[in-house]
Amino acid sequence: MNIFYYDIAVGLPIRQCFTYKSNNDIKKGTRVIVPFGNKTLVGIVVKKLSKTKSLEGLKDIISIPDDCACFDKSIFETILWAADYYHHPIGEVFLSFIPTLLRKKNDKIISTSNGESEYGINKDDKNFKLTKEQSVNLSKLNKIEKFSPSLIYGVTGSGKTEIYLQLAEKFLKENKSILILVPEINLIPQLLKRLKNRFKGEIGIYHSRQTPNQRLRVWLGSKFGEIKVVVGTRSSVLIPLKNLGAIIIDEEHDHSYKQADGFRFSGKDLAIKRAQLEKIPVFLGSATPSLQTLKLVKDKKYKKFDLLRRVDGKKPPKLIPLDISDSPLLGGLAVQTIGIIETAINRGEQVLIFINRRGFAPLYECDNCGWVAKCSSCESNLVFHKSKNRLICHKCESVYAVNDNCPDCQSIEISTFGTGTERVEEVLRSTFKKAPIIRMDYDSTRLKGSIEAIYEKANESKEAILVGTQMLSKGHDFPKVTLCVILNADGGLLSPEINAVEKISQQLIQVSGRAGRNNNLAKVVIQTRYPNDLNLKQIKTGDYQLVADQCLKNNKAIGMPPYSTISMLRATSPNHQSCHKFLEKVSNLLDNKKSITIIGPLPSIPLKIKGNTRNHLIIKTNTKTYLNKVLKFLTNEIQAWPETKKVKWSYDIDPHDMS
Ligand SMILES: [Zn+2]
Ligand SMILES: [Zn+2]
Repeated sequence: MNIFYYDIAVGLPIRQCFTYKSNNDIKKGTRVIVPFGNKTLVGIVVKKLSKTKSLEGLKDIISIPDDCACFDKSIFETILWAADYYHHPIGEVFLSFIPTLLRKKNDKIISTSNGESEYGINKDDKNFKLTKEQSVNLSKLNKIEKFSPSLIYGVTGSGKTEIYLQLAEKFLKENKSILILVPEINLIPQLLKRLKNRFKGEIGIYHSRQTPNQRLRVWLGSKFGEIKVVVGTRSSVLIPLKNLGAIIIDEEHDHSYKQADGFRFSGKDLAIKRAQLEKIPVFLGSATPSLQTLKLVKDKKYKKFDLLRRVDGKKPPKLIPLDISDSPLLGGLAVQTIGIIETAINRGEQVLIFINRRGFAPLYECDNCGWVAKCSSCESNLVFHKSKNRLICHKCESVYAVNDNCPDCQSIEISTFGTGTERVEEVLRSTFKKAPIIRMDYDSTRLKGSIEAIYEKANESKEAILVGTQMLSKGHDFPKVTLCVILNADGGLLSPEINAVEKISQQLIQVSGRAGRNNNLAKVVIQTRYPNDLNLKQIKTGDYQLVADQCLKNNKAIGMPPYSTISMLRATSPNHQSCHKFLEKVSNLLDNKKSITIIGPLPSIPLKIKGNTRNHLIIKTNTKTYLNKVLKFLTNEIQAWPETKKVKWSYDIDPHDMS
């Protein structure tokens, strides 16, 4: 009888595979059940070995649960690439791209089910004409057959979604499937509705707030061709759609494509890698493309397709800085601003108010002694949530009761400072008694169906005021809004962070895109104490390309991404000293390497989360290839250090948040 040897990846934080033997000939990418210590684990076959160094002590694979491989060739290769690029334990990478129910040994298995589905087109949904700009671009995009990343640079209201729908139609007619990625769960319902109106056939959705059974069903349906259209967030990027025709990445600039903890991958970059390995087109859409993408267009690696006119022929809204340096603010709103809102409401129009902070007030403080409410396990101020009458830590989501007395001096003179969505909502309610006030933030959209209810309320109402966080700036469509007010743009304009200008200009231009889809008089008012700020002057033109070109020029001059590549080594430990010393040792180790810049160790912000001190090191190199080499060397060294018993460490490759 033949004996085969395999390298198996298991879902543990270990950067290596383990060798097992079996009498069966097993394909790469297949799930197997293996003994590990005194447990049995699900593992993935990574490699078939021709010989092994030592046969002694090799354990047998216990069983092969599925009828076919879990990962097809291109997805398998994408995962190998990701584990290498992000320097993350390979088993964890494999398992993060299958539904949770398949990550453990149970009765759920992968076996062929019903046949493939046919998708019809609902002709009634298409009784409008494309603009000339749309048809010209669509016919060019339709001709792309192989891997070729295409940026669809379309100003808000230029009809990008219709282009996506018609591209999807083309691939469905060729009996292929299509994957559409969006940055946030909240953006799914709107797109789902358009897709359901257009196509007769199941539209699969895939994201982290579904039940494990829902995710398993969509995953299996995609694998066997029952589902041919999937809309999902970054976790759906490697969903095994059969005969995939293309990937569409909507709002490609959005930072939510990057996972912020654990396996910190970029769904966008993985989608592009997958498309490359599958040799299929990938379409990236945005009104405010990322600098990284724009540079690749300049380097002729990506093609760019411009949609610079709105389909309704209306002009984009005017961005108007409103000087509030002499105005007292009431719940973040200046008197002039309230006047402007009133005019719009009296005309029966809708207003959108954007403030980048949820809750009622970010500071809960004793007037007598200066005590400030802080989270006991993070070095973070607690935010007062009036609707819940609780103090909440926005870093770890711990909830605290509200103190009536100061815990330090027993004074009852406790005040709140600063403004969040709840406070703005309260001020608006007392000022505008008749207009419905609709709040849209993390707290008001957590329940299933809440986002749909918000749309419905906005649609039903005549005049109304929507108050929200950055969630409001993302691709949502509120057709009755004619006025947007941005309350705290100064924070973004003055931020010392690199790429702060890119971020704030994207945000302001995206918010402005929510206004005036049906109105020529729409405007965007930006409250500011710095109306003459140079960046603001550029952003005011509404010409994102102009702002982005300037940002690219600046970053080139100082050698920052996308003209260099950055990664962070993050370390956490209950002990501050160990954390700092560990990073200093890393820094010393890299000190004599060529063409590499090390910054730090730096304290992360906040310094403590859930009782652990956080520090980081920034590692900058000129090319990604060189960075990859340096980090491989580093990983090999660090793994053997005794310090790693006390310190948890991880890489953050291409970080968005450098704090
Ligand atoms: Zn006090
Ligand atoms: Zn906390």
